[in-house]
Amino acid sequence: MSEWSEQALQTNREMLSAWQLERLCAMLSEVLPRNRFYRRKLGSMVRPRSLAELYAWPFTTKQELLADQQQHPPYGSNLTYPVSRYVRVHQTSGSTAQPLRWLDTPENWEWLMHCWRWIYRIVGLRAVDRLFFPFSFGPFLGFWAAWDAAARSGWFVLPGGGMSSVARLRTIVEHRITVLFCTPTYALHLLEVAQREGISLNDSAVRFLIVAGEPGGSVPHLRNRIEQGWRARVFDHTGMTEIGALGIECPENPGGVHLLETECLAEVIDPETGQHVPAGVEGELVLTNLGRWGSPLIRYRTGDRVVVDPQPCPCGRVWLRLRGGILGRLDDLIVVRGAKIYPSALDEVLRRFPELVEYRVTWRNDRGTESFVIEVEPSTPDLAQGPAAQRWAERISQEIKSVFLVRPTIQVVSPGALPRYELKARRWRTQT
Ligand SMILES: [Zn+2]
Repeated sequence: MSEWSEQALQTNREMLSAWQLERLCAMLSEVLPRNRFYRRKLGSMVRPRSLAELYAWPFTTKQELLADQQQHPPYGSNLTYPVSRYVRVHQTSGSTAQPLRWLDTPENWEWLMHCWRWIYRIVGLRAVDRLFFPFSFGPFLGFWAAWDAAARSGWFVLPGGGMSSVARLRTIVEHRITVLFCTPTYALHLLEVAQREGISLNDSAVRFLIVAGEPGGSVPHLRNRIEQGWRARVFDHTGMTEIGALGIECPENPGGVHLLETECLAEVIDPETGQHVPAGVEGELVLTNLGRWGSPLIRYRTGDRVVVDPQPCPCGRVWLRLRGGILGRLDDLIVVRGAKIYPSALDEVLRRFPELVEYRVTWRNDRGTESFVIEVEPSTPDLAQGPAAQRWAERISQEIKSVFLVRPTIQVVSPGALPRYELKARRWRTQT
């Protein structure tokens, strides 16, 4: 980045666009002659002379990638180099479809390290910070690159796989951990366990939680509970196995995620027409990554619902700011008796009840007869029985009706009755 100043790439849109176009062209001249998937798809396209020209090219979809991997097992044909050049493989968590496998070369991995170094600079990590990853690392990308980037840059890093939540809490206190990486749900769960087990977090040194994997990091009620419980700042992070770690919440303007636009091209489209929508209007996020040349994605429809904040950000960065982070997934939409409900929107409403610790939704459509049941778990047993439980259920039911215009059946369950999640939470069961 020698002739490009990092400062200018964050604050000058014209310079940023020139940088993006230069990197895009460099990537395309490496990828297009070698990569079978993109040669088939874009073979007739020439190098774009402007970003606007690229925006007329076809999208890449997840269905396409999955079909390609089935046709060319096990890794598909979106590979710029021979398989022997690749040193890492990850896969998506498969919450909506069969898992997608993703190979990386050492250079790809370096680029992911580079993205995380950006994130650490933006968040303001200091040399004395001590990082803890309280979950078991799996085959998906989630925080692997965060870990590796931190370890290589000389931070103290501690893996928390195979430990109970109690053991993790003691680890946080004893090792004077300052930064936690987890899902928002698990950050809340640790607070709940600390309270139950009488582990005081007053002495904890945690000052940041970098959360990802679910939309909760930018849901106001949820993040407030995490920040108050931990007495620490939450940073929402967005990333995907197949595209990389490309978003981090603005340190000066909470409640919105900046995209690392030096490392990607971002578009927001109307999912029906494929046309760009203006800032302030909800649409689907489309990304092109600029540094993962071994397994690139060009105009990838992420399936994530986002709104770009039309206001300039007080931090001075011109990078797109996604208001409220990732709002949810397009394919999560459930239509209950004609009302459209996104799980993340329902989550936001349920989190308005601070005494609710966990919930589970079951939606069934049995030959046209729909049932919509929400099991809710209170923090204290007195809310779980008798008239108090009935009143609480009624308040929750009313609140949901006022927002979505449909009334669910609310079932209050005893504290501890519902499952807890260390990784991506699975709170919805749908049966048709
Ligand atoms: Zn900002």
